[in-house]
Amino acid sequence: MNAETFNGLMKQVPRLTLRQRELLRKRLDALDGQQKALAVIESPSSDQPRSCPHCQSSAIDRHGQVSGLQRYRCQMCHRTFNALTGTALARLRKKDKWIGFSAALVASQPLRPAAAALQVHRNTTLRWRHRFLGSLKADRPATLQGITEADETYFLESRKGSRKLERPARRRGGKAGKPGLSCEQVCVLVARDRTGQTLDWVTGRGQMTKAELASALQPVLAKDVLLVSDGNPTYRGFAQDAHLAHEAVNLSAGVRVNGAVHVQNVNAYHGRLKQWLHRFHGVATGYLDNYLGWFRALDNQHAASGEAVLAMALGKFPHLTVT
Ligand SMILES: [Zn+2]
Repeated sequence: MNAETFNGLMKQVPRLTLRQRELLRKRLDALDGQQKALAVIESPSSDQPRSCPHCQSSAIDRHGQVSGLQRYRCQMCHRTFNALTGTALARLRKKDKWIGFSAALVASQPLRPAAAALQVHRNTTLRWRHRFLGSLKADRPATLQGITEADETYFLESRKGSRKLERPARRRGGKAGKPGLSCEQVCVLVARDRTGQTLDWVTGRGQMTKAELASALQPVLAKDVLLVSDGNPTYRGFAQDAHLAHEAVNLSAGVRVNGAVHVQNVNAYHGRLKQWLHRFHGVATGYLDNYLGWFRALDNQHAASGEAVLAMALGKFPHLTVT
C-alpha cells in the first residue's frame, strides 16, 4: 500500500463506530498472530538445512505459496511440502491463533479460559494442547552428569476423559479408595543433576521396580555419575547392577543432608510439579507424560515465550543437549 492510500485510510479511522473499531482490532490482531506464527514456522532449524521430508533429498525447488507458507517441490520424489509437513502441527487450522495458544501454555492456562480468550471451541484447545505437548516433551537432556539425585513420587490414577470407567468417577482428583501405595497410584520418577538438567518418567502403576528404574536411568546416566537417592533399596540394587557410584540419605533416621549427599533438589522439583498440577484438578494418567514435559519446559525456562513454545511444538529445540 502506498503512503497516500494509507493516509487516506488513517483519516477514516476516527469515523469508525465502536463496533467497527472492535472488528478492525480483531482483524489486525489476527494478521499479527498469523505473521508471528509464520515467522516461527518458516525459520529454519539451526542444525539442519531444509530437505524433503518424504525422501530427505536436499534437491528442492520453491513451488509457490499456500496459505502464507512457502511450498517446495522435491526434484527426486517430485512431492510437495512446506515447513509444517511432517511436524506435529501439520494440517492444524487457525495458524493466526497458534502464538496466542502457545502463550496460554506459557501461562499454564486451563482450557476453558484459553479457549474463551482465543475465541475457539474448547475441543480445539484440547486437541492443540495434546499436539503441542506431544512435541514439546521431546525436549529432554540426553544425559545427566555429576551428582544426580533421583526419587519417585506418586499420583492418583485418573481415567479423566476416558469413556470406559471401571469404577465410579471421582470428583476433581479425589482420594484413593485404598490406604497406602496401591495400584491406584501411578509412579513418576524424577532425576535431576546439580546443573539443573532434569528428566522424568512415568514408570507405571504401584511401587517402582528395579527393572523400571534401570530402563529409565541406565541410558541417560553418565558412567562417572554419583547417583543419590533415599534409602529405598531399589536404587542400591540398580546402582550395583549398573556399576554406578551411589549414596543414599537415611531419611528414616532423620538424616536429610550429608554434605553434598541429599535429594533436596529433586524433592523441591516434586513439590513444584505437584503444586503446578493442582490447577488441572486431576490429570488423565494417559496424558501424564505430556504434563510432565510441559512443566519441565516451564521449570527450565525453555518455554519462556509463545514463540519459543511454538518452535518447540514444531520440533525445533535450540536447547537440546549435545553430548
Ligand atoms: Zn523427496
